Amino acid sequence: MTQRLALVTGGEGGIGTAICRQLGADGRRVVTTCVDPEAENIEAWAEKLRGEGIDAHWVQCDVSDHEACVAMAEDVRSRFGEVEILVNVAGITRDAFLHKMAAEHWEQVIDINLSGVFNVTRQFVGSMREQGFGRVVNISSVNGQTGQFGQTNYSAAKAGMHGFTMALAKEGAPKGVTANTVSPGYIKTSMTDAMPDKVREAIIGQIPAGDMGRPEDIARAVGFLTADDAGYINGANLPVNGALFCSF
Ligand code: NDP
Repeated sequence: MTQRLALVTGGEGGIGTAICRQLGADGRRVVTTCVDPEAENIEAWAEKLRGEGIDAHWVQCDVSDHEACVAMAEDVRSRFGEVEILVNVAGITRDAFLHKMAAEHWEQVIDINLSGVFNVTRQFVGSMREQGFGRVVNISSVNGQTGQFGQTNYSAAKAGMHGFTMALAKEGAPKGVTANTVSPGYIKTSMTDAMPDKVREAIIGQIPAGDMGRPEDIARAVGFLTADDAGYINGANLPVNGALFCSF
């Protein structure tokens, strides 16, 4: 593996941190986006990863803000060089049954989970095409494949991500740029910690593997799809869900 530059949005979250560690173990230099550098001790996060031997950095960016993404891309280019690997991890949930869902919560979830992928990827795919190499991985969800109660907003955003990725794969393939999705099932992070205990237990009862997955399970899939020799895997979806939902 080479010292290619990887940008991971939401890289300091549960799944994002595991992805940064995997990419670092693969010899990549890693930059994550951070929404609010005042609120989170993001520099401590980067220092911790550097202590593990990973060349880790951060830039400020709210992925739902297109102009902020333009500025972030300039910042990344000037400080670190061209991004060759992009992993779109940033995401939120704002759950409610549709008949009770606030318009604001529909918009926030679409703006961050789906438009955020456009806002960020748009800034880097041109230079990937020029270089003749690029890897884009978008973190979707099993709930984008199957739908889920209380998640019309989230399921719509994640399902939209698949259409985006397949179209981008067709555009990028002639130029050595791949675009794939990874669809996690239920993974132990702050996102699933926020579930009521009863809901979490009911979900675990439905997972044939008998438990939720670990962030490292998702990171492993990302490492595979971003490898230099993974160039023919393009427009694919890789489910990582403990056999919760199987399809072909
Ligand atoms: P976390 O909440 O731990 O991580 C989410 C990350 O997204 C955080 O780093 C957060 O930053 C960042 N983020 C949120 N809003 C923005 C924004 N506007 N701009 C930039 N970054 C933002 O959740 P997970 O690690 O569990 O989830 C990561 C991804 O995996 C999400 O896309 C999620 O939908 C998906 N996923 C998770 C599953 C699970 O079971 N955990 C299952 C299936 C999919 P900050 O903390 O600073 O707000």
